[in-house]
Amino acid sequence: MKKIQNFINGQFADPTNGEYLKIYEPATGNLYALLPLSNSKDVEKAVRAAKNAFPIWSHFSIDQRSACLRNLSEIISDNLDMLSAAESKDNGKPLKLAQNVDIPRASKNFGFFADAITQFSSESHHMVGTAINYTLRQPIGVVGCISPWNLPLYLFSWKIAPALAAGNCVVAKPSEVTPMTAYLLSKFIKDAGFPDGVFNIVHGLGPEAGQAIVDHPEVKAISFTGGTQTGAKIAAAAAPKFKKLSLELGGKNPAIIFADCDFDKMLSNVVLSSFANQGQICLCGSRILIEESIYGKFKTAFIEKVKKIKVGDPIDKDTKMGALVSKEHLEKVLSYVEIAKAEGGKILCGGNRIYPEGRCEQGYFMEPTVIEGLSADCRTNQEEIFGPVVSLIPFKNEKEAVELANCTSYGLAASLWTSDVGRAHRMPEVLDFGIVWVNCWLLRDLRTPFGGVKNSGMGREGGWEALRFFTEPKNVCIKVDPLD
Ligand code: NDP
Repeated sequence: MKKIQNFINGQFADPTNGEYLKIYEPATGNLYALLPLSNSKDVEKAVRAAKNAFPIWSHFSIDQRSACLRNLSEIISDNLDMLSAAESKDNGKPLKLAQNVDIPRASKNFGFFADAITQFSSESHHMVGTAINYTLRQPIGVVGCISPWNLPLYLFSWKIAPALAAGNCVVAKPSEVTPMTAYLLSKFIKDAGFPDGVFNIVHGLGPEAGQAIVDHPEVKAISFTGGTQTGAKIAAAAAPKFKKLSLELGGKNPAIIFADCDFDKMLSNVVLSSFANQGQICLCGSRILIEESIYGKFKTAFIEKVKKIKVGDPIDKDTKMGALVSKEHLEKVLSYVEIAKAEGGKILCGGNRIYPEGRCEQGYFMEPTVIEGLSADCRTNQEEIFGPVVSLIPFKNEKEAVELANCTSYGLAASLWTSDVGRAHRMPEVLDFGIVWVNCWLLRDLRTPFGGVKNSGMGREGGWEALRFFTEPKNVCIKVDPLD
């Protein structure tokens, strides 16, 4: 059995208290690894190491920092197969998905910020004849990065890469549920050229290790991705200490389908936006809003496609949906099917746990599930289920589509399917979401701002937004006396 270790000050370390948590493989239900149950003492060591490394790292030239990130990006690519297998085993996602999306994207995140930092600049404001101001953008110091289980290495690297590129030292905690690829990443950090203490990884439970990072007075900024309730706890702890906060939280995203869309393209994309990664992507569209005139046509075609989705062993190359991440999460998602039934919903397909034959018999699998007949304000249509469960809702016109789309407490991402150019421009203006995709889904340019509004979070990641978050702007005003 694999024993995961913390990575502090360039060394692998057991947790101070010697305690470990059991990690299970979602596809089989088998115990396969042990995770350090770190506490505030381990976090203290990591913060001290990061603080000591900060003067060195922040004075590395941009080119030196960029080279370390570039090296790490390349090492990840060189280890694509090993990391993909580890991600799939740890999370339950199809191996193919990890190979095509998760690991390449983790590599790209480091590569992207290796380049971005070489182009980063700041503003200057000229008071003609009086003074010149320029904005000095300096790294913050020690920052905390806390990430969730759904896209483990992908989201972990999405925070760490800009934090390091900007010259900060990092204390990071991956999700307790999927720690393996972060652990494997820690084995590459020295080879990539990072000085000891620049990049520390502390494993453990959120309320203990995560909270200790958030509470530590030397951690000046927190970048967090996870659930809205956890985000609220972190915000409450960080606010009185005036820490910088970036919160990427939950979603209840609409896919809005108009009769004038390219039906076939829309259909295959909406199947994907509903069930990719077992519906466990914060950007998945779980509320499918359909213009009344094509509701029947959509329902028939959609169900036909959904029934063909192959659910099963993540290592099978034909598998489209793997296991849900844990037994607890599977039970939570199944409980929402019961809630939907109690609320009067009709299960059009799916709704049940699956027990595949063979090695995955005890894995946490579930049928892709489609429900209709629910009101927009019921729990099923308001709460984040974060699994392979979607709800179909008809609408009469554009005005009603906007009302339905906006009627949740979340505001992460909406996707819109239409061939009306006017509508494609008009609707994004009134949709309360941080991201609006038109005739596409999950199309990502890493330079664009990423994040949500309302209960979906605060701040933006991506491109300059991330580099601005991880730097402190200081205005320098230089008085310029006129020539005598
Ligand atoms: P959680 O909020 O449960 O956990 C996220 C991370 O926070 C984990 O590392 C967790 O540790 C840690 N944590 C938990 N409690 C605390 C605490 N008190 N202080 C500090 N850290 C803490 O989210 P999940 O892992 O369940 O991830 C799923 C959620 O993430 C969904 O709501 C999803 O929408 C959201 N998400 C948002 C995205 C976005 O970009 N907006 C992208 C992807 C996911 P541990 O695992 O040990 O509990």
